[in-house]
Amino acid sequence: MAMRALAPVIGLLLSALSIALLVASVVEVFRGNEEMGMYFLLAAIALTAMSWLASRSVRMTKEVPVLRSFRVLTEISCASCGFKEVREFEEGDYIFKEIGKCPRCGGIRVITRICREETRPNP
Ligand SMILES: [Zn+2]
Repeated sequence: MAMRALAPVIGLLLSALSIALLVASVVEVFRGNEEMGMYFLLAAIALTAMSWLASRSVRMTKEVPVLRSFRVLTEISCASCGFKEVREFEEGDYIFKEIGKCPRCGGIRVITRICREETRPNP
């Protein structure tokens, strides 16, 4: 939790620091300290890679969808005798879709209701 909140801050700091190091390396090269400039440049590259990784991890945690799972139920009724059956919703279910024959009277059963499972007041 704390890490997730800190990650963008760390990423920002790292990229800011890498820019500062890049500027410092250019300054050092202009001053004639090419070796020093090279060290700064390498540090800048390392920091850029780290900040890139940090931002990537942040994006990955953000991509995880927060889904509320609830059951969807399909109610099947017989038009002839009124026999009702409730089962878990299946892909392709829609209202008035014919679902085989009634086990009681042999009539045609259709989907009459698709709903979310009712939540009870007391869990
Ligand atoms: Zn029936």
